[in-house]
Amino acid sequence: MSDQLIRAISRDGYVKAAAVSTRELTERARQIHKTLPVATAALGRALAAASMMGNALKEDGESVTLQIKGGGPLGTVLAVSDNAGNVRGTVDEPAVDLPLRPDGKLDVGTAVGHEGTLTVIRDLNMKEPYVGSVGLLGGEIAEDLAAYFAESEQIPTACGLGVLVDRDQSVLAAGGYLIQLLPGAGEDVIAKVEGSILAAGPVTALLREDPDPETMLRKALSDFDLEILEKSPIGYRCTCSRERMERALISLGAEELQTMIDEQGHADLTCRFCDNVQHFSREDLEAMVEGIRKKSKKN
Ligand SMILES: [Zn+2]
Repeated sequence: MSDQLIRAISRDGYVKAAAVSTRELTERARQIHKTLPVATAALGRALAAASMMGNALKEDGESVTLQIKGGGPLGTVLAVSDNAGNVRGTVDEPAVDLPLRPDGKLDVGTAVGHEGTLTVIRDLNMKEPYVGSVGLLGGEIAEDLAAYFAESEQIPTACGLGVLVDRDQSVLAAGGYLIQLLPGAGEDVIAKVEGSILAAGPVTALLREDPDPETMLRKALSDFDLEILEKSPIGYRCTCSRERMERALISLGAEELQTMIDEQGHADLTCRFCDNVQHFSREDLEAMVEGIRKKSKKN
């Protein structure tokens, strides 16, 4: 089954929710970054979360960035989503390898680290992006994200995220859900949400049984009558291009580019989010230097 995102609302009007299945895009991320299992799980959870948050944005061109800096061996985990829920991401140290936890699960919390921040950057095409940040609780990402919504946006939130890695290190199942209370929801609604989530069990088990995010969400919210508002395909999508990389090179300035020409004679730029590598020859770089010099003379 291809990766998919759904949005739903409960017919009583108290709960809204999103859910994703992200096996394919997580596997793509693994292949690009050559992540080992614990990094695959951390990055995969962040990508699933970013997708659901990105899909909540309204306008084309808007984006949301999820940055998790926990001081652990993985370094920073970064995931970016467009307003459709298509994502890209990266992790500083993809080759980190840790022993499994006593319960046999990947130790994402230790790999991410427990001392640091989860930051959400919403770029809404305004001058300044909206930035919110919370201290990490355990580095398992789902709980940290729920805490972010509660603290930073005052929205009671339950989040489940999961990535299951196979013996050959490929991704067997991935995805998650984001369940949020709407104004007017009382303690009884909170108790109902908590009860049905607990009864449903972990995300990876649900997705392994059936990769359809709708099935997962209906189980996680089994005490509610859900209306599905949207069902759409999502994927791993990068926005890089040769033109963007050229602009990045030009922004280094004539002097820096000249040093690059003298020392290396060319430049190979690799996108940090995907496997796009662009070669810029000596001639390409010299043309850039000339362009910068011409421009600065004019001014
Ligand atoms: Zn790229």
